[in-house]
Amino acid sequence: MPELPEVEWMRRCAAAAVGRPLVVVDLPCARLGGLGGLGGLDAARGLPLQAVDRRGKCLILSLGPLRLLLAPRMTGRLLVGGLGARHLRLRLGFGGEDDLLWLVFDDPRRLGTVELTSADALDLRCPPRPEPWPAPLSGAALCAALGGGRGSLKTALMDPHRLGGVGNIGAAEGCWRAGLDPGRALASLGAEEWAALAEGLCAWAQAALDDIGAGPLILLHGGGDNPFCVYGREGGACRRCAGSISRRVDAGRPTYFCPGCQR
Ligand SMILES: [Zn+2]
Repeated sequence: MPELPEVEWMRRCAAAAVGRPLVVVDLPCARLGGLGGLGGLDAARGLPLQAVDRRGKCLILSLGPLRLLLAPRMTGRLLVGGLGARHLRLRLGFGGEDDLLWLVFDDPRRLGTVELTSADALDLRCPPRPEPWPAPLSGAALCAALGGGRGSLKTALMDPHRLGGVGNIGAAEGCWRAGLDPGRALASLGAEEWAALAEGLCAWAQAALDDIGAGPLILLHGGGDNPFCVYGREGGACRRCAGSISRRVDAGRPTYFCPGCQR
């Protein structure tokens, strides 16, 4: 599932179309939520793409007063050019007749969503949340975002209503960097641990983005070498203490951690 780094990478690629007018709208097999379905998006034709933004794991295309929200969820990808897109949901052509730049939303499992809304309603449809990157949150801000309630650290980290952009991978990698067991009770964390976690999450996102620069499909599809410190490394040696990485299942999702140095 794409997390903050992959979605940020899609955003950077799609930004190539900023400044170009929307010329072609093609929804071969999409259900467009929001303002008037396909007809609503047709109204955006001729408008220049003003910006491509990211909130959490969601992309926001700004076209005049309209906002197109793309949530990749499990298998969705926003591609530039669209070569290799085999599960086309939405195709947008920007620019002149001879020189169209295509943004293509490809989604094999069709769990991603496409929604059209207005600039005024954007915060309602896609509320901004604290995010761990590009600058780390302060420990106090992260603590405030996740709340001091019950539940495990991992569950709180992955809750998109509390923190933007972090999924199963980010939670595992951030906790490893901070030396924290993902199963820790939220209320048990001290100020230094919150600060270390905020730094760890930011470092995870930046490291993943740096890796994506060498080949974005590696992170999305699991091919190639595993770029992570603990995620997917069950039985491997911890890079910090040389202990053996463990895997357990929490709420149906695998949790990777090092029992030797994550407390
Ligand atoms: Zn370790």
